[in-house]
Amino acid sequence: MKIIKPLDINLNKILGIKEEDVEENKTLTEMLNKIKSAEKIALFTHESPDGDAIGSTIAMYLTLKQIGKEPEMYIPEYSRLFAFLPSSDKIKKSLSEDVYDLAISLDCSDLKRLEGKEYFENANETIVIDHHGTNTMFGDINYVDQVAPACAQVLISILQYFKIEITKDIGTCLLSGIMTDTGGFQYQGVTPETFEFAAELLRKGIDVPDIATKILQTRTKPNFELSKKVVDRIELLANGRIAFSYINSKDEEEAKAEPGDHEGLVDIGRSIEGVEVSIFIRQKDEENSYKVSMRSTNEINVSDICYLFGGGGHPRAAGCLIKGTLEQVKNKIIAETEKAL
Ligand code: 5GP
Ligand code: MN
Repeated sequence: MKIIKPLDINLNKILGIKEEDVEENKTLTEMLNKIKSAEKIALFTHESPDGDAIGSTIAMYLTLKQIGKEPEMYIPEYSRLFAFLPSSDKIKKSLSEDVYDLAISLDCSDLKRLEGKEYFENANETIVIDHHGTNTMFGDINYVDQVAPACAQVLISILQYFKIEITKDIGTCLLSGIMTDTGGFQYQGVTPETFEFAAELLRKGIDVPDIATKILQTRTKPNFELSKKVVDRIELLANGRIAFSYINSKDEEEAKAEPGDHEGLVDIGRSIEGVEVSIFIRQKDEENSYKVSMRSTNEINVSDICYLFGGGGHPRAAGCLIKGTLEQVKNKIIAETEKAL
């Protein structure tokens, strides 16, 4: 039997809480009670899952195992770059039950984007744990910290409250989530706790640079091939304040792209001097529809722009789906972005 040793991490210290000041949090007490009384539990996250989605889901899975549960994780498709995450071999592409006592959604803003939404809707009880400002609070219990830089960081407070021991595996998953959503501690929203948690993991012997290499410095070959097209096609608009680029289904076929191989392509435009908003659009399987990814550097709230098209996200990173041809979608999203500039 594999013995999982806790890392002796004092979460109260990281979160700046004194033992005597720990107040009862009604939402978390209710959440813990629901978890304890549920037998069949399934965990879900958003479509096109990134490192925060997968890292948070596995961290919750390991947490529930410590509470004595045998949950199932449902993530039908994800990039092989995340296969290094501990317990990723326990992720399921199909679930064993039709109806669960409890369904937990991690890192997902709305039911529409949830992979396995049918199961979530069918479950007797539902919990939503997230950090999106545009979260629609679609669970029976919703624990949403809109200022947390990653869902994985929201989980740190939950683990502290549940008195869960941080193991090497849990720490690796949480840090992977944080590194993904903060771009390696670079984006707005990182807090002192973000660094303190990483520092504590480093102190306890977790190979933080190795996680950084795997999460931030590694791209698949198809992603590299696609990035060449994205660079080649970048157009600078609005006096260089908007960068636009795209890929279509044919590009993905030629590059032999697999799920997740488009991750990070939107960042290329943002890195250009003077660019405030980077827009990257990708043709979806259905004809005449494009998935829009937006990033901004300083001022523009791209979540507000995506919200106009039924999407959402965070002020500096957001997305939406728009129907139409490449030209139509491009014109629509650029017009709204120009208005916001
Ligand atoms: P990405 O561009 O990496 O796909 O997404 C950036 C951020 O926006 C992520 O936090 C993601 O969850 C969110 N996001 C992307 N697409 C959508 C969408 O269609 N609807 C909503 N509500 N959020 C989205
Ligand atoms: Mn996230």
